[in-house]
Amino acid sequence: MPKRSLSCVLGAAALLATLTACGSTPRSAAQAPPARTTAPASGAPATTAAAAPAGDQAAAPAAAWAKWGLKPLPAAPAAPADKPVKLPATGPVPVFSEVPTTDKVVFITIDDGAEKDPKFVEMATDLKVPFSMFLTRDIVRSDYGYFKPLQALGNRIHNHSTGHPAMSGLTADRQKAEVCDAQSALTEQYGTAPLLFRPPYGDGAHSPGLNSAVRQCGPRAVVLWRESMQIHDMQYQSADKKLRPGDIILAHFRGPKDLKGETMTKMFGELLARIQEQGFSVGRLEDYIAAG
Ligand SMILES: [Zn+2]
Repeated sequence: MPKRSLSCVLGAAALLATLTACGSTPRSAAQAPPARTTAPASGAPATTAAAAPAGDQAAAPAAAWAKWGLKPLPAAPAAPADKPVKLPATGPVPVFSEVPTTDKVVFITIDDGAEKDPKFVEMATDLKVPFSMFLTRDIVRSDYGYFKPLQALGNRIHNHSTGHPAMSGLTADRQKAEVCDAQSALTEQYGTAPLLFRPPYGDGAHSPGLNSAVRQCGPRAVVLWRESMQIHDMQYQSADKKLRPGDIILAHFRGPKDLKGETMTKMFGELLARIQEQGFSVGRLEDYIAAG
């Protein structure tokens, strides 16, 4: 597996040294693409009898995929018993943009929360594709309830700041308020404290000041991404424009206003089609994370 992935999830002692070496800021990561890892046969089901159940999307019938004009994704591998991302309880929080794995699995994250399309709830319910939501308090506060049926499907809610500023331009106090105020509101609304934080635009992700604010407010890691979904395809950081095992994909709750007339469900369907074409399954990010 790529060494840079491992360095990104090392414990507190090593973290300061790797803060600038992880290469996970969206712009610089493309300069150091990882060596390709060998993946198992595409779509191979879990074979270990004692393993955890296979990924959620295995349960969606072919008719559900056909309803949305999609081909079924390969079944996700069983959730690993030994979680490859281990979050230390103290010290700097890890910063990562992919999960160390050799399985042909990627992870979907959906940010902000502006578009609240009921059809997307129907789609998520039909397809049972797992994703993680990074919500901004001031963008979702007008309708916290929209995200509850998505949460009820098993999708976790994480912290994407209070007002969506570029964090690196703020004072330490403002940074802390941005993380802590959202943490309190999301915990109160959704009944569980966000485990992860994503700074808007990925800005300031590697700064010790923001790292300290995140630690003080409760999230246990800063999560970036490898690919960013646009309208019909992803923007890749790798030069060859291909998904790699463990990649974290960024998407947004967006509607026709931001998608040149396309809907949230159309965009999400295109994302799944691009993943399916490359033979990847979609796993649940939190199944790969241990917060000891
Ligand atoms: Zn955002």
